[in-house]
Amino acid sequence: MATGKSASCSTAEESSSKSQTRTNSKNNEMEIFFNRKWRVELLKPYHVRYCRHVLLSRLSSGYEEADTQRMTLLHFGITSMDILNSTESALKREERENIINWIYHLQIKEPADRSGFQGSSTFMFKSLSYVQNGGLPPAQLFSSHITMTYAALVSLLTLGDDLHRIDRKNILSGVAALQNSDGSFQASLGCSEKDMRFVYCAVCTCYMLNDFSHVNVPKLIEFIKSSFTFEGSFSSGYGVEGHAAYTFCAVASLFLMDRFEESFSENEMEHLRRWCLMRQEYGFSGRPNKAEDTCYSYWVVATLTLLDSVHMFHHPRNVEFLLGNQNPICGGIGKCDNEHVDPLHTFMGLAGLALVQYEGLNPINPMLTMSEKAVMHMRKLHLRWKGQEYC
Ligand SMILES: [Zn+2]
Repeated sequence: MATGKSASCSTAEESSSKSQTRTNSKNNEMEIFFNRKWRVELLKPYHVRYCRHVLLSRLSSGYEEADTQRMTLLHFGITSMDILNSTESALKREERENIINWIYHLQIKEPADRSGFQGSSTFMFKSLSYVQNGGLPPAQLFSSHITMTYAALVSLLTLGDDLHRIDRKNILSGVAALQNSDGSFQASLGCSEKDMRFVYCAVCTCYMLNDFSHVNVPKLIEFIKSSFTFEGSFSSGYGVEGHAAYTFCAVASLFLMDRFEESFSENEMEHLRRWCLMRQEYGFSGRPNKAEDTCYSYWVVATLTLLDSVHMFHHPRNVEFLLGNQNPICGGIGKCDNEHVDPLHTFMGLAGLALVQYEGLNPINPMLTMSEKAVMHMRKLHLRWKGQEYC
């Protein structure tokens, strides 16, 4: 009886303590909302909750069109959590293992020229009986996408995987098969889309797998150099308008190949630096006469970091812009104030804050767009692979 009474008291205390916690949390949320605290501080727990939602819950119907690119959504969620230093506290070991297994099930190992990762299971036609239907054999229905391969590798490294299930040799052959005669890369075999984004993803893939021998590096550099514009920026390809994201992709690719300094004169570098600095209002814009947008606080600031010019812009204005784009109710960051939040801008906003060493965030590598912690893990794997034959 005494035990029963004691248990019931303890239950009542627990319930009162839970209700007190809920009230405190509600008061805290109201204070943040009504005092517009999100404009001056990073709402870290809100963003962790948002990233968990992106990774593990069903997204709203608005994301249907991104179904073939689920790997990139995963990459944004995982890398954001890593920047927030919360991957291990917010995701159980089993959940992390499930995510790793999900990534690996999208690896295409054969044929070698199609090897890499798919973005989701949308195009997995395993159940099709191609003989009965007179269609293509399954191997030719599968094709990797270079952006998904990049996103898969970054996510695996960020989750601490040792890449032992990666078919390195075939993935590198798959990257080589995507290179065009002008040195650029197409997104997927037979795809007409080719631009600087895919150059960047191909270069990062070779860098993460520690082997550039499969691609034509001189041609690749020629393509990047041909995309330098009269304004001092880089475009998606020759003769097209310059853009901050393509500028980052071009500059980071050259740095990853250790070919930046030999590719440009001092004058050209100065021209590039000036173009980047001119993009700042509070945040940064992607092109002249365009509005500022969260993602450019990463693309432009990462480029300026690589150019050793991070001290040349107004940091407090940039931070104020990024914090003002947070959602103080559901977490996440939008592209500008009062815009819906999305996984891409949440990731880019956090990465932009990490670049300017915002307190409490894990440092980010401005070449690979992943945390320095994940880069250190990758370098250990490179040492382990040294002298080893490809599996
Ligand atoms: Zn944007």
